[in-house]
Amino acid sequence: MDKQQEFVLRTLEERDIRFVRLWFSDVLGFLKSVAVAPAELEQAFAEGIGFDGSAIEGFARVYESDMLAKPDPTTFQILPWRAESPGTARMFCDILMPDGSPSYADPRQVLKRTLERSSDLGFTFYTHPEIEFFLLKDKPLDGTEPSPADQSGYFDHTPQPVGHDFRRQAITMLEAMGISVEFSHHEGAPGQQEIDLRYADALSTADNIMTFRLVMKEVALEQGVHATFMPKPFSDHPGSGMHTHLSLFEGDRNAFYEAGAEYQMSKTGRSFIAGLLRHAGEIAAVTNQWVNSYKRIWGGSQRTAGAGGEAPSYICWGHNNRSALIRVPMYKPGKGQSTRIEVRSLDAGANPYLAYAVLLSAGLKGVEEGYELPLGAEDDVWALSDAERRAMGIKPLPQNLGEAIDLMEHSELVAETLGEHVFDFFLRNKKAEWEEYRAQVTPFELKRYLHLL
Ligand code: GLN
Ligand code: MG
Ligand code: MG
Ligand code: MG
Repeated sequence: MDKQQEFVLRTLEERDIRFVRLWFSDVLGFLKSVAVAPAELEQAFAEGIGFDGSAIEGFARVYESDMLAKPDPTTFQILPWRAESPGTARMFCDILMPDGSPSYADPRQVLKRTLERSSDLGFTFYTHPEIEFFLLKDKPLDGTEPSPADQSGYFDHTPQPVGHDFRRQAITMLEAMGISVEFSHHEGAPGQQEIDLRYADALSTADNIMTFRLVMKEVALEQGVHATFMPKPFSDHPGSGMHTHLSLFEGDRNAFYEAGAEYQMSKTGRSFIAGLLRHAGEIAAVTNQWVNSYKRIWGGSQRTAGAGGEAPSYICWGHNNRSALIRVPMYKPGKGQSTRIEVRSLDAGANPYLAYAVLLSAGLKGVEEGYELPLGAEDDVWALSDAERRAMGIKPLPQNLGEAIDLMEHSELVAETLGEHVFDFFLRNKKAEWEEYRAQVTPFELKRYLHLL
């Protein structure tokens, strides 16, 4: 047993922890958990705990359903919202096949594999997510209009207790679990919050996002409100994104930084952006995986930035341009190490492991093949005409999940990154969602056509 594993076992005894939850993610990014007694842990560390993978979304075919969950002791944390004694703790797991090889269905494994590719090229991948979500008064009944928990707006600090109290309690809980928060504020829409996590290596960040979503839901429950990461719950208000800042490090040197270069952005940084742009369409089904995700991207009137709320619709990059898919934040003198790029398409309904894997793959492809960075867009791209955008070579992101699926289906990059099993399952699952949605007659149609036609 290694030192980390010993530390876990010792802590369990010292802190009177009787339940250990083993966490992992299904292919769509839903958190799965199996609780084990501390006595089982030694074996869990050695071989993993068996479970029936065929019951998990996207995991196994029935005839090969036995799988093992092997806890990663570096992710051990006590759950602060459970009773102190006896307490409950959790660890994220790697999923293994019965012979001990890594499972091809485990999203965490997909990210790990991509991170290894990156480290073979000498790079460590860091991410810093800005997570937006809504607090609603109650959990809405099926099909009813949601009702926001407050009426504040961007950065508002008004005496409406829900937001502040919520953020204070939520952040305290995240910090108690070793997740550092950098900023938090009220976002533009009523009930909308934003919490930004400190940058960390992409695997830790992805684990942290899984934890984050659960913590927000737990705190909301305690405060009598409902937290949702649905990308676009209101037609008339901006949606919730999960902008993520990305950087590559070579050892302790930021590989995106080059003193004196334009925007202080190195060749590696420029090609990485070019990769993200060139492959943005084919990875969209992963970064924006729900029918509703495209309502955020295309929602409302983007031109007024009102209901569109600065979600990107077009594939371009800009320096300080919030209508662009990729933004290069302004360089601050002496801050070369914090050189990074912000991807603004991603939403918090994504599976963070898969989303970070495809973003990294797209960027690395650009670096490996030496893609040239196209000209940046310094105009508000929503305000341009289609012809102007075309002349500038700016293409739209997919308009809906159906289009995104078509692009993904032909993508070698996504197939290679996800591996055959996850790629096939994901496409099958998303096609079914799209076909079901496409067959719906919506309230919009009833309202508009019953009288008109
Ligand atoms: N809510 C916007 C989005 O969906 C972002 C708003 C902002 O952070 N400027 O991406
Ligand atoms: Mg922000
Ligand atoms: Mg924001
Ligand atoms: Mg941002």
